[in-house]
Amino acid sequence: MIELLKVTKQVASGSEQLTILHPFDLQIKSGEFVSITGPSGSGKSTLLGIIAGLDAPSGGSVLIDDEDITLMNEDRLARLRGAKIGFVFQSFHLIPTLTAEENILIPLEIAGASDAKPRARELLAEVELTNRGHHYPSQLSGGEQQRIAIARAFANRPPILLADEPTGNLDSRNGAHVLELMQNLNARHATTLVLVTHDAELAALATRRIALRDGCVVMDSQNEATNVEVNTHDTVHPHATPTTNERAHGFDIEAQTEGAG
Ligand code: ADP
Ligand code: MG
Repeated sequence: MIELLKVTKQVASGSEQLTILHPFDLQIKSGEFVSITGPSGSGKSTLLGIIAGLDAPSGGSVLIDDEDITLMNEDRLARLRGAKIGFVFQSFHLIPTLTAEENILIPLEIAGASDAKPRARELLAEVELTNRGHHYPSQLSGGEQQRIAIARAFANRPPILLADEPTGNLDSRNGAHVLELMQNLNARHATTLVLVTHDAELAALATRRIALRDGCVVMDSQNEATNVEVNTHDTVHPHATPTTNERAHGFDIEAQTEGAG
């Protein structure tokens, strides 16, 4: 579960303090698919960066599975991010000097995965790019680069996937494919998905829709049209371990037999 308590963000702008996010509380349960929309400059990226621990709030707390990440030092935060959070950016952020497969291998090697190579191959297959693993990002289309970025973000099977305008640089067909991949993760593995998007059609696919304006939450509603069951384990048993269970599952349920022999 993601919990924001009285989170706020201010930055100095000349001699004045500019408030980017006004204090607010937010709870996102495990397995939810939440979309965040709002005009440019409304604070969407700032909010996502704070949830990911990439940016520190000026006030308030951010709890990931009951742990306050605003109190963690860089080392602990990096470890938590590596284990629990995958992040997908609008501009892909692949390392240009590494091949597609090497980009996917990075988080696996950092985590010390013993099955890094086969896992990278499996992820390449999941995003339907098996035969492009040896290609460099510049040799791939935007849609293909974003699929590699999703594979990389999901390499360690994080329970939380955050995406900031992941389809913003893609045409509608590639955008739909990329979103479908992320929706599959949400639906099949109860991966919490927080999607920032300008696209009203994509936002409407979420089970819960949040809108920001001028750093304030102006809408937060369950989406009646979608009918996906949300995992409510953490409200019922705050210290149960649904995320362990989730992480025992991979991108491809059928392929996951690790620890089982
Ligand atoms: P969005 O993603 O919704 O377009 P952002 O979260 O990127 O909005 O930014 C919200 C507002 O905060 C914008 O007006 C932006 O210019 C401002 N902003 C973001 N980061 C900084 C910063 N480090 N210093 C000053 N202003 C910032
Ligand atoms: Mg933004």
